[in-house]
Amino acid sequence: MTNNETKINNIETFKELLKDFTLPMPENKPKENYVNILVLRELKSAARFTTDGVEANSAIMRIGSIEETVGKMFGRKQVASDRRKAKALQRTLISEEMKTAIGDEGWNGCTMKVNDMCQKCPECALFGSAASEESISITSRVMYDEAYTIRALNAIVQEYFQNAPGDDYSKKPTPGIREPDFFKEGTLFPCVITLRDVTAEELLFFLNITDRNSRYGATTTRFGKVQNHILGVYASHREGPSSLEVTRNIALKLAGKIEDSDTIKNFEDKLKKVMFSDTLHVDEIKKLATESYEEISNNQRINYLAKDILSTSNAAEHIEKTINATASNPEGNNTIASPVKSMGVGVKFNEISVSIILKELNDDVVKSLLVVQIDKIKNLLNPKNIQEGTSKAQKVKAGKAKAIPKSTSIEPNIA
Ligand SMILES: [Zn+2]
Repeated sequence: MTNNETKINNIETFKELLKDFTLPMPENKPKENYVNILVLRELKSAARFTTDGVEANSAIMRIGSIEETVGKMFGRKQVASDRRKAKALQRTLISEEMKTAIGDEGWNGCTMKVNDMCQKCPECALFGSAASEESISITSRVMYDEAYTIRALNAIVQEYFQNAPGDDYSKKPTPGIREPDFFKEGTLFPCVITLRDVTAEELLFFLNITDRNSRYGATTTRFGKVQNHILGVYASHREGPSSLEVTRNIALKLAGKIEDSDTIKNFEDKLKKVMFSDTLHVDEIKKLATESYEEISNNQRINYLAKDILSTSNAAEHIEKTINATASNPEGNNTIASPVKSMGVGVKFNEISVSIILKELNDDVVKSLLVVQIDKIKNLLNPKNIQEGTSKAQKVKAGKAKAIPKSTSIEPNIA
């Protein structure tokens, strides 16, 4: 077997194992197919995550019996960064193919400007776009939430005060100038990102983006390198736990490991010790994040069957086994009384299996996936296929709906 054939087989195996939770092509009506991706974002250098340009983003987290201020990475900052990466990758890999697919209008490479997105590319179809002048509104099928640090803000943020000393021998004391806060290197953000009703190509595209992306700070900043450790892919007909739930559980687990001593007697002290520690071990947190995600899922009655992407030499055999295992019942059996498998059980892939897939997602493979996807999104993006939202009034409504929070109800008389 040649190297390329092996690669195709591993990715095909992955697609096959996920086929109950992905769609052959994007559909207009929502279904209950969720693929959750567990990621640990690790700061590889000091990073600025601020809204006002000075103060580090933070939130008060209740954990066990204590409340503590922790660092925060907004969901919207994560999504903006991933989208920039995804659009840049499309321009690199499929500019020609997009131009061919769109025809006379050409393709200008798409943009991050909210009302100016092309609404024709795989990225717009997956991440969504607000209504433009004459087109449609696409709802995002990628869901991010706010991510939090395990440690307290005081342990992870460096405040800088600049004292401009001047060059006089004697001077009156001057107040320090506050410099922007930095999250220290080594700060960890456990994150869960959920893809809903996606194709296998879209999932692979998203995994590739997550693997490539290493900048999550403000666009203007040159600081802050992030490594995304993809710890697992979990697919089910139910959505999994949130980033906050996972983070909280990791801290509780760490505290549970600390033994009693003269100075530390109760659980509260142990939690504080964890949250104010100078460092955390990445490998230990990776393990605890996975355990936490799976425990919480289990408590929420979401079960996943472990699936492996095996070493490359076994790929052909593996896909055969997979197909046999999911084959339909022999003739004559009552299919209702003896189901082949339970609809309620999802599938999961661990870090090693995901890393085999990531390794094989080279530019050529990603390009071919995107080219397939260009074809698959045609129906979804064709305004003629959308029954609602074609009148002017409804178009305005769709546009407004994007701009206000989900929880706010939309007034019917906007137009
Ligand atoms: Zn686009």
